[in-house]
Amino acid sequence: MADPKGFLTTGREVAETRPVDERVRDWNEVYVPGSLLPVISKQAGRCMDCGVPFCHSGCPLGNLIPEWNDYAYRGDWAAASERLHATNNFPEFTGRLCPAPCESACVLGINRPAVTIKNVEVTIVDKAWEAGDVTPQPPERLSGKTVAVIGSGPAGLAAAQQLTRAGHTVAVYERADRIGGLLRYGIPEFKMEKRHLNRRVEQMRAEGTKFRTEVEIGRDVDAAKLRRRYDAVVIAAGATAARDLPVPGRELNGVHQAMEYLPLANKVQEGDLTRAPISAEGKHVVVIGGGDTGADCVGTAHRQGAASVTQLEIMPRPSEDRQPHQPWPTFPMLYKVTSAHEEGGERVYSVSTTRFEGDEEGNVQWLHLIEVEFVDGRLEQKAGTERRIPAQLVTLAMGFTGTDQENGLVRQFGLELDGRGNIVRDASYATGVDGVFVAGDAGRGQSLIVWAIAEGRAAARGVDRYLTGQSTLPYPVRPTDRALAV
Ligand SMILES: Cc1cc2nc3c(=O)[nH]c(=O)nc-3n(C[C@H](O)[C@H](O)[C@H](O)COP(=O)(O)OP(=O)(O)OC[C@H]3O[C@@H](n4cnc5c(N)ncnc54)[C@H](O)[C@@H]3O)c2cc1C
Ligand code: SF4
Repeated sequence: MADPKGFLTTGREVAETRPVDERVRDWNEVYVPGSLLPVISKQAGRCMDCGVPFCHSGCPLGNLIPEWNDYAYRGDWAAASERLHATNNFPEFTGRLCPAPCESACVLGINRPAVTIKNVEVTIVDKAWEAGDVTPQPPERLSGKTVAVIGSGPAGLAAAQQLTRAGHTVAVYERADRIGGLLRYGIPEFKMEKRHLNRRVEQMRAEGTKFRTEVEIGRDVDAAKLRRRYDAVVIAAGATAARDLPVPGRELNGVHQAMEYLPLANKVQEGDLTRAPISAEGKHVVVIGGGDTGADCVGTAHRQGAASVTQLEIMPRPSEDRQPHQPWPTFPMLYKVTSAHEEGGERVYSVSTTRFEGDEEGNVQWLHLIEVEFVDGRLEQKAGTERRIPAQLVTLAMGFTGTDQENGLVRQFGLELDGRGNIVRDASYATGVDGVFVAGDAGRGQSLIVWAIAEGRAAARGVDRYLTGQSTLPYPVRPTDRALAV
C-alpha cells in the first residue's frame, strides 16, 4: 500500500487549468503544463490498495490501478508505466479524455473525494514518453498470417497494435486522409493535442503496422475482395451515422451536423486550412445536444470568436449528486461542467427544437424551441412556452445511430445488424462471417475511447485464436468478458 494514511492526510487535488481568457485564444490543451508533477505522488498515495479494488472493474480495461498508484507514490515511474501498459495500449488518450468510470467506483469515493486516478495515469505515461521508456515492440517472429483492420480510431489502433505484436502482418485501412478516427477529426486539440496521437502512430509504424489512408472499404475496395486477400479482417469503422433533426428549416444554410463542423476546425489545426469554412466567428451559435460532442462544439465556437453560444438539451438538468437508482460503484449520470462550459455560454435544459427560421438568402437566423416535461414517463411539450433564440450557426450533436451503411461495407461483407444499427458479434468479437471480427463503436454503438481500446484488445485476442488456434494476448478483465477466457 502506497501511504497507509494518505487518504486521511491528503485532500484530492486535480490538474490545474489555464485561465479562461488565455486558453480561449489558443487551441492548446487547457491544462497548465506540468501542474500535476508536484502533487501527483501524494495523490497516488491516497489510494487505499483495497482488498477488492472496485476501480479495476469500473475501468473497462481492467487497469491495475492500485499497483501503478503504489509505484507512482514511490517514484518508480518505469515500473508504473510497465503496469499501466500491461492493460492499456494508449494511456495518454484515456488519461486525457476518459470520463473515468474508475473514479466513480473508487472505494474512497464512498465517503470522501475519489483518488485522482486519471491524473495519475496521464502523468505516468507522459513521464514514460519523456524518459524514452515507450519504445517500439516489434514481434520476435512473424506468423505468416495477414490481417486487415478497417478504421483507425482507438479500436482499430488497439487491435492493430496487439495483432502486430503477436506476429501477424497488419494493414490498417482508413477512409480519411489521416490516422486516428474521432481522436483526429472529432476531438478538438484543446482536449488532446494531436502530437500524442502522432507519436503513437509512429511507434506502431516502427513495430511493423502498415497504414493505408484515403481508402474506403466498400467503396474504393470491395469488402469481399479484401476478405479474400487477408486471413482475417477486423471492422473498427465506428458508429458514424449521425442522428438528424428533421424539423422545418433543417435545410437552411448554417445548420450542420457536429461532425461536419468539428473536423474543419481540426483541419485548421493540422495546417490544411487557414480558416474553417464553417466558422462561429461573430455568430450566435446554438448547439443541440448536451453531451461530449456538444461540449466540443461549445469549446470550438468560443475559440472561433462566437458572439454567443447556447447549448440545448431535451432532458432535464442532471443532479449534482448520486441518485438512489445510481448507487456507488456505478457510473452515475451527473451534471458535468467541462472545460468548454467553464469558458462561457448558456446551457438550457428541458427544451425541444420545433423549427429553424432563415433570412431571404436561406441562412438560418432563429431557432424556435418549446419547453418539455415528463408526464407519466413521456416527454411532453408545455403549451405556451414557445420562444425563439438567435441562431446563425446551429450544430447538431444528438448522438449517432450506428455504423455507416452508405458505403457497401455492411452489404458486401453480408453482415447482420442489430436493431440499433450496430454490427452483430459474439463473445469473441466474431461476426457471422467467417474470419470477420468487429470492435469498438461499430459493434457497441456510440461509446467511449476506453471501451474502444478494450474492445480492440479483446477482438485481437479473438482474431489471434482464429488464426493460430490459441492466443497469449491478454483480454480485458471484465466480468462480462469472461466468455473470452475459455
Ligand atoms: C466529437 C466527439 C467527441 C468525443 N469525445 C470523447 C471523449 O472526450 N472521451 C471519450 O471517451 N469518448 C469521446 N467520444 C467517443 C469516442 O471518440 C468514440 O467512442 C471512439 O472514438 C470510438 O472508437 P472507434 O475506433 O470504434 O471508432 P472511430 O473513432 O469512430 O473510428 C472509426 C474510423 O473508421 C473509419 N471508417 C469508417 N468506415 C470506413 C470504411 N468503410 N473504410 C475505411 N475506413 C472507415 C472512419 O473514417 C474513422 O476514422 C467522442 C465522440 C465524438 C463524436
Ligand atoms: S482508462 Fe478511464 S476508467 Fe480506466 S483507469 Fe484510466 S481513467 Fe480510469
